[in-house]
Amino acid sequence: MSTNPITTQCCIVGGGPAGMMAGYLLARAGVDVVVLEKHADFLRDFRGDTIHPSTLELMHELGLLDAFLRLPHRKVERLVGEIGNVRVTMAEFTRLSTACKFLVFMPQWDFLDFLADHGRRYAGFHLMMNAQATGLIERDGRVVGARANTEAGAAEIRADLVIGADGRHSTIRERAGLKVDDLGAPMDVLWMRLSRRPDDYAEVFGHFEAGGILIMVDRGDYWQCAYVIQKGSADELMKRDIADFRRMILALSPWLGERVNELKSWDDVKLLTVALDRLPQWYRPGLLCIGDAAHAMSPIGGVGINLAVQDAVAAANILTEPLRAGAVTVDHLARVQARRQWPTRVTQAFQRAIQNRVIGPVLAGAQPKPPLAVKLLDWFPALRGIPARFIGIGVRPEHIRTKEAA
Ligand SMILES: Cc1cc2nc3c(=O)[nH]c(=O)nc-3n(C[C@H](O)[C@H](O)[C@H](O)COP(=O)(O)OP(=O)(O)OC[C@H]3O[C@@H](n4cnc5c(N)ncnc54)[C@H](O)[C@@H]3O)c2cc1C
Repeated sequence: MSTNPITTQCCIVGGGPAGMMAGYLLARAGVDVVVLEKHADFLRDFRGDTIHPSTLELMHELGLLDAFLRLPHRKVERLVGEIGNVRVTMAEFTRLSTACKFLVFMPQWDFLDFLADHGRRYAGFHLMMNAQATGLIERDGRVVGARANTEAGAAEIRADLVIGADGRHSTIRERAGLKVDDLGAPMDVLWMRLSRRPDDYAEVFGHFEAGGILIMVDRGDYWQCAYVIQKGSADELMKRDIADFRRMILALSPWLGERVNELKSWDDVKLLTVALDRLPQWYRPGLLCIGDAAHAMSPIGGVGINLAVQDAVAAANILTEPLRAGAVTVDHLARVQARRQWPTRVTQAFQRAIQNRVIGPVLAGAQPKPPLAVKLLDWFPALRGIPARFIGIGVRPEHIRTKEAA
């Protein structure tokens, strides 16, 4: 990397799960990488905090698993749902054949800090915090870098390849003029924390009732709660007294009792809008989008981080050698899309099916009933390995194919 302008082999925009994993893997393989992250740190509450067995498997392949699991985390072996008044175990990760037969809840900033710390061990890893990409530099129809506002002022980062990993509101895909297909999402999510008591349930817990859905994630001394609402209805709801919202939560989970009073005002509740979309084409000459920038994922199944990380691994597997040789072509970029497009489509089809058949009708007031597939999981525990595999590993899992540079 040099300064004024900065030159590097690969400029990655966005220090989320996709960008940090791609940056780490490329630097580990001897590629010079600049990662631009617009925030000063990774501290963000209410981001997805799930690390799936497939990501843990990658940590295992990288020889980082023991160090990773020394960070504070909670293990989750099964996912449980309450549909009306029927309680069902929907997935059991203990049935997987991976090194870790559990899912881990870990604050996302710890995961990203871990990747940053390990990335810094390589000379070619340059993470710039407080650096917001504002546009692309193009020459003869090819992207040759990115412009950014950094702590030192406006900067140009010249690169053989720009990777857009800047999430579902991606500036990069917009500046590149890449077309987005919006698949629609009928819901948004209100996030909040409520205290957890030692004798509460100890699982990820979803409660479905006519008119409302509450997902509760066990975070040790508190529950991370997601109250699902109809898309676009937050403004109206948040004009009402917070006491109304407390009553809505109690209607779904009366056992929370006076704990709902911990929500003193709407300041204690965060709105997260949900998007489900994808790019028909993830690349242009000199530019590739991965993670949510290529395909925004809904929170259903908590698989977005998993997919973002898997994209990063596929990108590193396919692009390391061309990057080292300074010879990345559109064919290489097309190979990354071809590899990851199918898992994305399958996962989004699953999320759409749940949106349309379960979440949409329930939010519109239909009384939820466990579908036959869910009843089968209850009757035949061995079947719980199937959703565990889909959620925990996903389709077409990636493996580390790059070697650490000498
Ligand atoms: C309500 C909600 C809950 C969710 N819960 C889960 C969950 O529990 N588990 C799960 O797996 N998935 C969950 N998801 C999905 C998950 O958050 C995403 O799929 C995942 O974070 C995508 O990772 P990413 O690295 O592609 O993008 P992001 O995580 O969005 O990271 C993008 C990064 O780019 C940075 N950035 C953006 N613009 C710029 C710029 N111009 N310049 C520099 N940096 C920039 C951002 O600050 C950010 O750090 C949830 C989604 C929603 C909406």
